[in-house]
Amino acid sequence: MKNISKQRAPFTMPELPYDRAALEPHISAETIDYHYGKHLKAYIDNLNKLVVGSGFEQTDLKEILKVASGALFNNAAQVWNHTLYFSQLSPTPQSRPEGKLAEAIDRDFGSYDTFKEQFTKSATSLFGSGWTWLVADKAGRLSIENTSNAAIPVKDGKNPLMVIDVWEHAYYIDHRNVRADSVAVFWNILDWRVAQERY
Ligand code: MN
Repeated sequence: MKNISKQRAPFTMPELPYDRAALEPHISAETIDYHYGKHLKAYIDNLNKLVVGSGFEQTDLKEILKVASGALFNNAAQVWNHTLYFSQLSPTPQSRPEGKLAEAIDRDFGSYDTFKEQFTKSATSLFGSGWTWLVADKAGRLSIENTSNAAIPVKDGKNPLMVIDVWEHAYYIDHRNVRADSVAVFWNILDWRVAQERY
């Protein structure tokens, strides 16, 4: 999946780097059909409509995220967040962080297992719709952040390394109301290679 930060209107669907059924049994093809095929598609379509006459027709997505507000921000952010989310999943993931990122996780959380525990707790306890992020500040220090609805942690100059979508639309088909189950299977398909490249 291409980095869409530099994309300008008209925005197009980022291509999935795997088949829609490739993440089964962890994420079903039906969930991908809805989550990628309908929800993300709707955010792209809305963004393209809202950008017309907004003054942001020539502005790239990253810049729109910095300055837009209201519906335009919400749809732009959801496009960006979902692209980060879908692009870090893989049927053949690198299942643990390595190299510099692994060292930073040990330094800032004590161990990978402690990090995983804290991240899981943040994601399962986030109230309402939102996203749980692993972010790095400018000095490379790591932290876990929750954001509500479409909000993104980059507004404070932070660099998102990986993220889980905890909106109900991300898991209701596969897990109904049990968000914790969707967080548990997330670790089976999260490709740490992508987070390492972003670090
Ligand atoms: Mn979503």
